Amino acid sequence: MRRVGIRPFLCHAARFASVRQYFRSPGDGRLRPQIPAAVLLRALLVTRLLRGESFLAVEAWVRSPARRGMGVRQSFGDDALAYFTERLEVERLRSGIAGVVKQAKRNKAFQDSRWIGLSLDGTGAGRSEKNRCAGCRPVRNDKKEIVGHHHKFAMISVVGTGLSLPLDVEPYGPGDSEYAAGQRLLRRAAQNLGPRFSDYVVADGEFATAPFLHVVGDAGLRAVSRLKGNLPELYQAAQRRFACKPPDRKFRDDSDRVEIWDADDFDPWEGLRWQTVRVVRYRQHKRDGTVFEAYWLTDFSKSEVGSQALYHMAKSRWEIENQGFNDGKNRYGMEHICHHQPNSLLVNWLIIALTLTLERLYRCRYLHRGRHPLLKPVELFRLLLLSLMQSQDSS
Ligand SMILES: [Zn+2]
Repeated sequence: MRRVGIRPFLCHAARFASVRQYFRSPGDGRLRPQIPAAVLLRALLVTRLLRGESFLAVEAWVRSPARRGMGVRQSFGDDALAYFTERLEVERLRSGIAGVVKQAKRNKAFQDSRWIGLSLDGTGAGRSEKNRCAGCRPVRNDKKEIVGHHHKFAMISVVGTGLSLPLDVEPYGPGDSEYAAGQRLLRRAAQNLGPRFSDYVVADGEFATAPFLHVVGDAGLRAVSRLKGNLPELYQAAQRRFACKPPDRKFRDDSDRVEIWDADDFDPWEGLRWQTVRVVRYRQHKRDGTVFEAYWLTDFSKSEVGSQALYHMAKSRWEIENQGFNDGKNRYGMEHICHHQPNSLLVNWLIIALTLTLERLYRCRYLHRGRHPLLKPVELFRLLLLSLMQSQDSS
């Protein structure tokens, strides 16, 4: 196997032109910086990779003998990171991550996939009792009483390729909404990725509205969206239509049996500029007898995408939850608020997205070549820690 460790990981990251460019010129807003921005960024990236979630964790690493193995010469405190991330520009970081994903595509990281998707959704993080900064949103109970505060953001990821790569984050504070943030996020991601990068956008039912679907179309993409009761006419029409006919296709998804109904001649709802709406219903029968049923709508024609491929596109929506939010929160500290300041928080979430993306490209593509086995995330984590211990032995 290729040599695994923090230094080789950083060398791999530097093979991406946009990462090199970003570390050279990240848009540092400090007036008289004592510690170079690249050092702070490298320490942040490596700490997240080592599953440390706070700025104090970064400080602990750079004050330890493992510092050398991280490619960091100076030590610094958590307050230096708070000051730095409050003032750091975010657009360069966003285009840096998009650059990694674009280069991955040029390097044929997605070559086994016929279709490339983008999935986006919103989540909450960092619940606290008090309102701590301008980005904190109130959390209310059923009686609309405020019971705490938290932060909300939407994230977008490449999906449907066997390699989920998160690439951008958009916060939504008080008075803003997931729906509005999702539109801003999609517009910017499409712009940063450029034309013909991906084929479709997959999202949950709350994004199935004419304005959002038009943003998708304006970006040159097709939409695959869950159909629920928030579009009652279409939903009921599809239920009526499919209730009295046998499925159009049956196939297996691993050990599950799937039946699918597919019709492409539903009327668009008022305000939607599509000619017709295609709706599919699938029923997924698990071996234990449970059945999952869902309706999805799309503007892909039947000749472009068959029923089975559309089913897999719909399923790729879960990647933003599982490989995006769950991995981000459980392993990389996405739930933790390092410093209650809107710009600092956004920088931290974007660094986590960059970490997730670089870790997957390193582990699932660079290290997994030829007959080299695919390392599990925890196996890579162990080898990375080990490399820091070895770097101390040799110093
Ligand atoms: Zn806050």
